[in-house]
Amino acid sequence: MTKKITILGSTGSIGQSTLDLVRRAGADAFEVIALTANSNVDDLVTQTHEFRPRFIALADVTRGDALRARLSGVDVQIGIGPEAVVEAARIRSDFTMAAIVGAAGLPPTLAAVEQGIHIGLANKECLVCAGELFMHSVRRHGAMLLPVDSEHNAIFQVLERNKPKAVKRFILTASGGPFWQKSLADLRSVSCTDALNHPVWSMGARISVDSATLMNKGFELIEAHYLFDRASEEIDIIVHPQSIVHSMVEYIDGSVLAQMGTPDMRIPIAYALCWPERMEAPVQQLNLAEVSQLTFFEPDLARFPALKHARTAMETGGFAPNILNAADEVAVTAFIGESIKFLQIEEVISRTLEICMSQFPADHDPMVLADVIAVDEQARQTAGKVIASL
Ligand code: NDP
Repeated sequence: MTKKITILGSTGSIGQSTLDLVRRAGADAFEVIALTANSNVDDLVTQTHEFRPRFIALADVTRGDALRARLSGVDVQIGIGPEAVVEAARIRSDFTMAAIVGAAGLPPTLAAVEQGIHIGLANKECLVCAGELFMHSVRRHGAMLLPVDSEHNAIFQVLERNKPKAVKRFILTASGGPFWQKSLADLRSVSCTDALNHPVWSMGARISVDSATLMNKGFELIEAHYLFDRASEEIDIIVHPQSIVHSMVEYIDGSVLAQMGTPDMRIPIAYALCWPERMEAPVQQLNLAEVSQLTFFEPDLARFPALKHARTAMETGGFAPNILNAADEVAVTAFIGESIKFLQIEEVISRTLEICMSQFPADHDPMVLADVIAVDEQARQTAGKVIASL
């Protein structure tokens, strides 16, 4: 049966990889219902001609006229603005790939969850910014979350979900990013180009910088905590530069189950797209003799304090992870725009957390979307002021 799918963030790295699989599987396998982007008119127009969605949405209102002009005469409904992206998520489909980057992905992904359908969850910020609220909505609407982050996808694949007490801990693997062997002194002078040059994975700009600081792994820790309902002490992180073992589950009898594969996001995307079946993915076959060595190291929290901040924010709860994400988004944008240095990303995050956490109590996790958005906005303003003061 043809599966109706929507892709939120279709012009990004995950969005394009998803469409690559859809293209190869053919029109009998998938019908594209809706596609969304922020401002990339060129790619959205090309995708519209190729995949013939019923509805497309562009979040950036300043690019709306350009999009309409390029598609005049084409049979597609066009929505402009952030609310149009939410509207796209509300159109009935069987599967929605949530692949917008940042907190901007939260409202449309929640709208998709409310349909009670299968959700391919790449946008980890949904769980970082509003984990309790998001999981509550998933349960309430009977949606099925299929993790796309390769680590969580690996855990999902090897987890015996009906035996939660048999699980001792999760071990999330981290590639370590481009800088894991650099000294603190070297890290002072690394450039944005260096940070974007990930040794193993090809990804969007923000997650690439987050991989260089290891904040991405910190976000994944929080993601795993909410997604699989596990406490902080049950989730460990280990650096594994080859990125062949995508994560592991240790059971109480000492068995450790790992999922392996070449580092290609089309593997977890294909798994999510087709679950509970499997589909062919055009990925390089894993040749362990060629890889030859799989190595593992403890992460160094002195050089990569982002991991520490993420664990503390997760254990603190309340708005802390939401503030952490907002501060990181602002700091990473400033780093990409060359207004701050690499090590100042951490400075912006820790100072923003310090200022904002005194304003927002951590006695309960936020359960109202408007509160999450308001705190996100305030944390962004604070992070902007911190940057200006550096
Ligand atoms: P990209 O930056 O490559 O793409 C992001 C997508 O989101 C684009 O389609 C972009 O549109 C759209 N977008 C950006 N801002 C907004 C906004 N304000 N409103 C609506 N849409 C917006 O990101 P990635 O594909 O790398 O990552 C997407 C998500 O998946 C992130 O949460 C990331 O952490 C997660 N992820 C990514 C992995 C990867 O390998 N790339 C691996 C695991 C998780 P436009 O093109 O117009 O800017």
